[in-house]
Amino acid sequence: MPKYARFCIRCGKVEDENNVLINNLCPNCYIEIYGIARLDKPLRIIHCPRCYSIKIGDKWLRPNTQEELYSLIQAAIAESLQPATSEITFIDLTLKSVELYSPTLELEITASISNKVVVKHRLPVSVSWHKQLCPSCFKRAGKGYDAVVQLRYINYDSEIERFKNWLVEMFAEDIVEIDEHKNGYDIKVSNQFVARKIVNFIRRKWSCVKIIESYGDQRRRRDGRRYGRLYISVRILNFKPGDYIVLGGKAYIVDSVDEHSLTIIDSNGNRIRMNIKDMIKMYAPA
Ligand SMILES: [Zn+2]
Ligand SMILES: [Zn+2]
Repeated sequence: MPKYARFCIRCGKVEDENNVLINNLCPNCYIEIYGIARLDKPLRIIHCPRCYSIKIGDKWLRPNTQEELYSLIQAAIAESLQPATSEITFIDLTLKSVELYSPTLELEITASISNKVVVKHRLPVSVSWHKQLCPSCFKRAGKGYDAVVQLRYINYDSEIERFKNWLVEMFAEDIVEIDEHKNGYDIKVSNQFVARKIVNFIRRKWSCVKIIESYGDQRRRRDGRRYGRLYISVRILNFKPGDYIVLGGKAYIVDSVDEHSLTIIDSNGNRIRMNIKDMIKMYAPA
C-alpha cells in the first residue's frame, strides 16, 4: 500500500523532513497567513535624551559605546515584541538596520513553530521613540550646579579624552553637564566638594597644571562667609616642541619638554632651560 504524502493546503507543497506541516500549512504559508510577530501598534522605545539610556522593562540601562546602544535597542525590542500566535516561540532577534529615531527598523527573527520547525524571517517593524529623562538625569536636571571646572589643555590627546570619559562614569551622579569648548570642557558639577575632588584627580594625573579659583555672582552671607558659584580654571600645560608660549609677556618657542623642565627659545635664538614649576608660575593664559 503506497502511503499518501501530506501537502500544504495553501500552496500544495508536499511534506517532507525539510517541510514540516503545521495545521496543514507549510512554514512559509503559516507565516504568510498568521504573521510571525504581533505588530498591531508601533513598538515603544523609551530612551533618555541626555545619556542615551534605554528603558527595558523597569530598568534603565546606560550604554558606553554605540554598539552597546544598538544591543540595548535590540533588547528593548525583544522585550516588547510578542509572537503572532501561541505556537510561535522566538529564538533570536537581530536588528539588521539600526538608526536612532528611524520610524522603521529591520529585524531578523529566528523562531520555532510548534517546536517542529525553525524559521528565519526578515521583518520591518514600526518604532515610536519616546524621550524621557532617566532617573539619574532627572535627579541631576533638578539639582542645578554649584561649581564649574573649566578644564583647558594646550594640546589635545587621547589621554584627555579618556580622562573625560572616566570622569563622566566616576561622577555620574554629580556631573550635571559637560560643555565642549575649543580647547577643553566646562564641567558643571552639582557641588563644590566634588569639583575640588575632580581638580585633585587632574592634578595627580598631570603634574603640569595651572589652577585658578574664582567665585561668580559672589555674595556674602550675614556671617561673613562668601557664597556663589565656584569656578575653577584648570589648565593642563601639556606643551610640546614647536608650541608658542608666552611667559612674562614675552613669546618663546618650546624646544623640548621633560618631566621637570622645559627648554624654550627666545626671539634671539637663545635657549633657556626652565623649571616646570617656574613656568607654571609665570604662565598667564591669554
Ligand atoms: Zn504552503
Ligand atoms: Zn539619562
